[in-house]
Amino acid sequence: MSAILLSGKPIADAIKAEVADDVRAIKEKHGISPCLVVVRVGEDPASAVYVGSKVKTAEELGIISEHVHLDADASQEKVIEVVAGLNARDDVDGILVQLPMPKHIDERTVLELIDPEKDVDGFHPVNAGRLLQGHEALTPCTPAGVIEVLKRSGIAIAGKNAVVVGRSNIVGKPMAILLLQENATVTICHSRTADLADVCSRADILVAAIGRTGFIRREHIRPGAAVIDVGINNVTDPVAAADLFGPDDIEKRLATIEKRGFTLVGDVNPRDAMELAGYFTPVPGGIGLLTVAMLMKNTVTAARSRRRI
Ligand code: NDP
Repeated sequence: MSAILLSGKPIADAIKAEVADDVRAIKEKHGISPCLVVVRVGEDPASAVYVGSKVKTAEELGIISEHVHLDADASQEKVIEVVAGLNARDDVDGILVQLPMPKHIDERTVLELIDPEKDVDGFHPVNAGRLLQGHEALTPCTPAGVIEVLKRSGIAIAGKNAVVVGRSNIVGKPMAILLLQENATVTICHSRTADLADVCSRADILVAAIGRTGFIRREHIRPGAAVIDVGINNVTDPVAAADLFGPDDIEKRLATIEKRGFTLVGDVNPRDAMELAGYFTPVPGGIGLLTVAMLMKNTVTAARSRRRI
């Protein structure tokens, strides 16, 4: 058996097309365009790439976007001043502060300062609380993207056993709440879970958000399960690659390592998932693409809700 690959691109493209239509409709009816501002502090190279892709995608969809870039030594007071200024601007619908920030800045203080109505990452405690209570909320983009992939791929959620490995505020916890809202029976696993393989191997839907290369292996996967890989990790060692990729993929991966010095892999061993799972999201090309698409959707949701349009 070989898993059906759930490619993120067509689903992300469909969501982006819907967002672009909505942006056009808002412009025609109300004469305004939603506006997203991304704040970046310091020179983290991965953050620079992520922010660039968010700003570019926004522009492609007709969303006005601004990129505020502060030096790595910007003070906490300066970051707070910038966020407060964006909260006060009536033309700004979405504020995203790119993480991680430099160590001297307290991320929680900054994130809690963002106006919950403009919190397009959905990390503010007000939005987390609304989500938990089942009210309308701006929802973290990555777990919201996982739900879109499941629904748009026709994978039933209601009544299924869903297991989420990882309990971060950004992915694992909101993922579990969203699956619960879709009427799955949900189990949340973490580093202290006893016999992880036993729990995972009972999942109809298994979501891995751990941050460990290829950690979920054959003993964790129920044959036929939908396996959703949220992880993004670098593999640089050709020997490690041989343990991760099946015969269809290994040559391409080794060539990528030789060319770029690394290849991307998730938290699931792709060779085992392809062999055992019913459905599997690839890395790269899976859930990662949904995160930006859902950010765009949240920006338009925030614009409509805040402006009551
Ligand atoms: P965190 O480091 O915040 O959380 C990791 C979670 O995994 C923790 O809850 C931790 O448990 C759990 N964990 C760690 N080791 C084990 C183990 N041995 N067994 C069981 N559980 C374990 O990571 P994030 O949630 O922020 O991210 C997870 C992954 O998703 C990363 O690879 C990240 O790069 C990726 N990611 C991808 C995105 C995308 O757009 N595709 C967006 C965001 C993240 P405990 O709480 O007990 O420590």
